[in-house]
Order: sequence, then structure tokens, then C-alpha cells
Amino acid sequence: SVAPLGSSVIPIVNKLQDIFAQLGSQSTIELPQVAVVGSQSSGKSSVLESLVGRDFLPRGNDICTRRPLVLQLLQTKRKLDGSEEEYGEFLHLPGKRFYDFSEIRREIQAETDREAGGNKGVSDRQIRLKIFSPNVLDITLVDLPGITKVPVGDQPSDIEARIRTMIMSYIKQPSCLILAVTPANSDLANSDALQLAGNADPDGTRTIGVITKLDIMDRGTDARNLLLGKVIPLRLGYIGVVNRSQEDILLNRSIKDALVAEEKFFRSRPVYNGLADRCGVPQLAKKLNQILVQHIKAILPGLKSRFSSALVSLAKEHASYGEITESRAGQGALLLNILSKYCEAFSSIVEGKHEEMSTS
Ligand code: GDP
Ligand code: MG
Repeated sequence: SVAPLGSSVIPIVNKLQDIFAQLGSQSTIELPQVAVVGSQSSGKSSVLESLVGRDFLPRGNDICTRRPLVLQLLQTKRKLDGSEEEYGEFLHLPGKRFYDFSEIRREIQAETDREAGGNKGVSDRQIRLKIFSPNVLDITLVDLPGITKVPVGDQPSDIEARIRTMIMSYIKQPSCLILAVTPANSDLANSDALQLAGNADPDGTRTIGVITKLDIMDRGTDARNLLLGKVIPLRLGYIGVVNRSQEDILLNRSIKDALVAEEKFFRSRPVYNGLADRCGVPQLAKKLNQILVQHIKAILPGLKSRFSSALVSLAKEHASYGEITESRAGQGALLLNILSKYCEAFSSIVEGKHEEMSTS
């Protein structure tokens, strides 16, 4: 499977967790949530799926996401024989493990219908799904219903206001990273995503612009100026992506194939030359990773001082045990040393000196 999100952060976070675990202390490396916002069918669910690298979300050219889906990715240890076990578990079905990801999609649909009815109704009651896998980073992603303007089916007349309120309740949280999704075949100035994100994050410090559907723009137009931020500037910039089309979905095209096709799309269009760092899902993952590393770097000093005081109290606690104190304190000092090294390494990563970090 493809798991671009977190590929460079996973080893760092794991190492930190290990350091804390050795001291018997629970680490609190809480990573920010990532939520997608935008109008209906802009490609939000598609973007999240590509980031996770698995097929499991309902997608389509109609209203599919009708309840917030809080998706917790949880890293599991790889089995000793090297085999991988990936499964999902819903809060509303405790203990039931879903190994078949298309079954996860069917359960999301069924659970949506149970709460919001079968006729396009929308509910703000969450569906909570955990995905356990050795290939993911412990992070929470939130898939949200898109903005719609005209009530259809069982939707109330104030559907737009209701959905806006629901979305805002997630993205106004200062720790939430916002993926503001706008399709390239609509006008950026009309973007619901940018409008909502602008309200929730006026400084633009946690909003990434995502432009989807670059493959189906009007002939003679391209997204170059959008991606360069010349149309509407955005502090953290834009990434353009090509997700699977409805036809691809019907043909069961895999995520892996879609990523290959996306790469080919950008490579074969001279207009996107020189914009490689703003094009493609892997670049979006990379950008998110950089933000996560920055976040970890910001919380490290706090972790470090917690670690030091844990060390001091341990030393005190074990003072009467004689020899053990020595070894325990020695071990602690060593760990503190490692942690300090990590702080330095983080700085290098953030400044772009190293792509990857050794975990040995
Ligand atoms: P959401 O409502 O924002 O979650 O959008 P979905 O992810 O469900 O996608 C809506 C429809 O647009 C689906 O039929 C997707 O196949 C299609 N779609 C999404 N992104 C792209 C894209 O980049 N290119 C093309 N051609 N179709 C896309
Ligand atoms: Mg959706």
C-alpha cells in the first residue's frame, strides 16, 4: 500500500515515543487534526483517501459525506514475521475488526443512513473510525460534508447554514490544520473552502489550499497562476492534485495507479514545469509532514523539560535503592542526551538540510 502521509515523520515520532516509553512515561506528542473543507463534490474525500493510501471512503458526484467522519490513524507494531495487519474499527461497533476496506466503506454508508436517513439528509453526529496499521502516523483526519446551497431530498431549508456551522465547529479549533479544497474548474473567488478557512484562520497560518480536478479544466486554461498564489494569495500556498474521476471509481482503479497517472499528468504538461513542489498528492503529504515536524519542534522544549523533571523525581525515588539509582540515572541521562540530539536534528529538517533522519 502507499502511505505518503507521515513517511518522514513516523520514524521521528516513533523514536520519541520509544524514549518516553523507556522512562515509563506516557509521551504526549499530540499531533494536530487535519480537516478537509470545501463545496460538495470538490474532491475532499478523494484527497483524504489518497493521503491515507487506502480505498475506504464513500466518494461520488452526489452528496456522499453526510456526517462528519473522524478518522483516527493509529500505528501498530509490525508483526515479528514482517507481515502487515491493517484493519478498521468503528466506535459504534466495538470489537469488530474490518480487514476488508471496502466493507469499511459500506459500513460508513450504512451508518450514515441509520442516523441521517437514506434521502440525502445530513447530520452533525460523528462517525468515529480507527484505522490500525504499521504504516500510519498517529494522527486524526476529519472528512466533512461539503457546502450545498439548494436543499434536496430530506434536507432542511437552512441546509447551507447548518453545514457551515458544523464545519466551523471543527476548523475554528486553533490546532486544526485546514485543507481548503477547491476544484480547478470553478472560480477561486467563489470558493466556499477559502471563504470558510479565511473565517476560521484569518492569518492563514494553518490553511493549505488544495486545487483538485486539474485534469478537467476548460480547454485553453490552466492552474498555473492559482498554484503560484497570484489569484488569491495564501500564506502556506497551494498544491494542485489530480484524483480519480467518477469513471475511475466505477472501473475500480487503484490509488496506486491513480498516483502514477497523476505523476504522468504533471510531467506531460509544460505549463506545470518548474512547479513540481506544488503539484501532486505526494507534495501535499510532504507539506503536511513539514508542518507536523514544525509542530513537533515547537512542543519539544516542553517535552524536554517534562523529561528532565521526570528524571529528577526518578532519581529521588530511587535514591534509597543504591545501585539501581546509578544505572537508572545513567540511562536517563543518556536518553536526555538523545532527546537533545533530536531537537537539533529537527531544526535541520525544518530548515531543509536533511530530507530524512536516521533512526538508528
Ligand atoms: P467531496 O464531495 O468533496 O468529498 O468529493 P469526492 O471526493 O466525493 O469527489 C466528487 C467527485 O469528483 C467524484 O466523482 C470524484 O471521482 C470526482 N473527482 C474528485 N477529484 C477529482 C479530480 O481531481 N479529477 C477528476 N476528474 N475527478 C475528480
Ligand atoms: Mg466527501
